[in-house]
Amino acid sequence: MNKSKYIYLDYAATTPMDPQVIEVYNKSINNFYGNSSSLHSIGQKAAKKLVESREVVASLINAERNDIFFTSSGTESDNLAIMGVALKNKKQGNHIITSSIEHHAVLNPCEYLEKSGFDITFLPVNRYGLIDTTELEAAITDKTILISIMFANNEIGTIEPIKEIGAIAKEHNIIFHTDAVQAFGKIPIDVNTLNVDLLSASAHKIYGPKGVGMLYIRNKGNRERSGKYIQPLLYGGGHERDMRPSTVNVPGISAFAKAVELAKEEMSDERKRLTVLRDFIIHSLTEKIDDCFLNGHPTRRLPNNVNVSIQYIEGESMVLDLDFEGIGVSTGSACSSKSLDPSHVLLAIGLKPQDAHGSLRITLGRFTSEKEVNYFLEKLPPIVQRLRKMSPLKKNT
Ligand code: PLP
Repeated sequence: MNKSKYIYLDYAATTPMDPQVIEVYNKSINNFYGNSSSLHSIGQKAAKKLVESREVVASLINAERNDIFFTSSGTESDNLAIMGVALKNKKQGNHIITSSIEHHAVLNPCEYLEKSGFDITFLPVNRYGLIDTTELEAAITDKTILISIMFANNEIGTIEPIKEIGAIAKEHNIIFHTDAVQAFGKIPIDVNTLNVDLLSASAHKIYGPKGVGMLYIRNKGNRERSGKYIQPLLYGGGHERDMRPSTVNVPGISAFAKAVELAKEEMSDERKRLTVLRDFIIHSLTEKIDDCFLNGHPTRRLPNNVNVSIQYIEGESMVLDLDFEGIGVSTGSACSSKSLDPSHVLLAIGLKPQDAHGSLRITLGRFTSEKEVNYFLEKLPPIVQRLRKMSPLKKNT
């Protein structure tokens, strides 16, 4: 295998930093090392950069600058949204509605809250991974304080009916959070037309640095303290307007802002380019390989996501064999998730465990070329053929 030509097709797991983002990051480490809370000029220079970066990040989702709160990750943003709303509003109610296919950054805080006396509804999804908005509305009670439904799923790429959910939440006066870690920067998002109150995003999914995230918190009438309806989870200094203490990572945040700028510039063209490549891969795999089917919705899916099940073989074996050929993809099979169970998302859309074990997720990005896609499509079928010959799982058994 020629490592220098490694074909990375796992952009949903994380993205490499864009060279332009690295340049901004490297300069920022030197130029904006000051503590943005310090009164002197070095601190104020960092504080100014922070304001500018907040403005750029807000503009991608049509938000107000002061409604952006920087965090360390998508996971932290999800936790702040869910735990923060639960803690602050527990006197008003103890019911939260979410879906069964959320990322663990949402599922696990919900499960923690459930153990602490909250009532959580985990909505089921259909075979495409879509929630049913009628079921969502029927689940609302006078104790419901939060609806948290992901914008797009990280495994199967399905895009949820966010506008409809936002309208329902608004009508019932319930706070609406969406985990947009996979959608942010890839498809247009307008928090106002969608009636989203809280939105999580992460820099490392859009060619920015790891360890930088943000939570959008709609201001509901209190200028100084945007998150009147959210309780902070960390206690310390007054950073991020008392919502998230700790000395602010201005270099990382300015690099995040650069990544957002690039995403904004290229979104329209990149969406089209990746959709063509995505559909070409889906068509080729389901044509070239017997007993191979698509997971997720055929059209309501992220432009960069392909997820297929290749029956009678194990996902891990395909991932390892592809890696040997210099190609990086992922699977929803058991070992890769470090647990004995296959992906909860694939089981929730109704896959049999053995078909979930045979899943392969191929996610494309800015540096994916047609040539790379063709190479992958050439290498996979013989790997499948070889593994099937050795497989104890056979058709009709
Ligand atoms: N939510 C979704 C949908 C994700 O895909 C991920 C990461 O894979 C996260 C949350 C967690 O983000 P982070 O890695 O920034 O903590």
